Amino acid sequence: MSSVPSRRASGEKITVGVLALQGDFEAHGAVLKRLGARVHEVRIPSDLDRLDGLVLPGGESTTITLGIEREQLVEPLRAFHSSGKPIFGTCAGLIMLDREHLGIIDIRAERNAFGRQVRSFEAPLEMGLSGGPIAAVFIRAPWIAEHGAGVEILAEVGGHGVAAREGTVLVVAFHPELSSDDRVHELFLQSVREARLAAA
Ligand code: GLN
Repeated sequence: MSSVPSRRASGEKITVGVLALQGDFEAHGAVLKRLGARVHEVRIPSDLDRLDGLVLPGGESTTITLGIEREQLVEPLRAFHSSGKPIFGTCAGLIMLDREHLGIIDIRAERNAFGRQVRSFEAPLEMGLSGGPIAAVFIRAPWIAEHGAGVEILAEVGGHGVAAREGTVLVVAFHPELSSDDRVHELFLQSVREARLAAA
């Protein structure tokens, strides 16, 4: 029925999936709910049905890779992206989306890039968001070692990309779900709303 998409576009809550194989998916869910989204945990391919956007959380990228393969999620995740729906990857989620994993954003992530000494830290980070720098929590974080011409680097630490966007894909090397500053999630939700309007 043609009235369904326009009703969805005009006000119904958006629905965001959070990949829930391993990692801190519950913290993402809490932020997304606080911002007014409906949240669905994603564990198998059919969980991707009827979502407006998807978050890949931080955690342990080797474990998440094995889970994605075990649950046969590789092609469904690529198809989700190809359908134009926004994806947001944080920390291990950034790694999962890179050229050497799902190949959904044209970057190469360097794992545990900040080294053994400075594994975890919090730093003010200028990301061009209104309201000034965000308090970014880095936990054994990757950085973006290489990226293609279509990738916009949104923030850097020491000359290394730690936040980037390519089309509908947003990645950050830190953990915005662990601070009380919701602006990065809001940036993602804005792209989810725009993509849904464009598809309606
Ligand atoms: N060091 C982890 C990995 O390489 C990522 C850390 C995180 O997600 N906080 O998988």
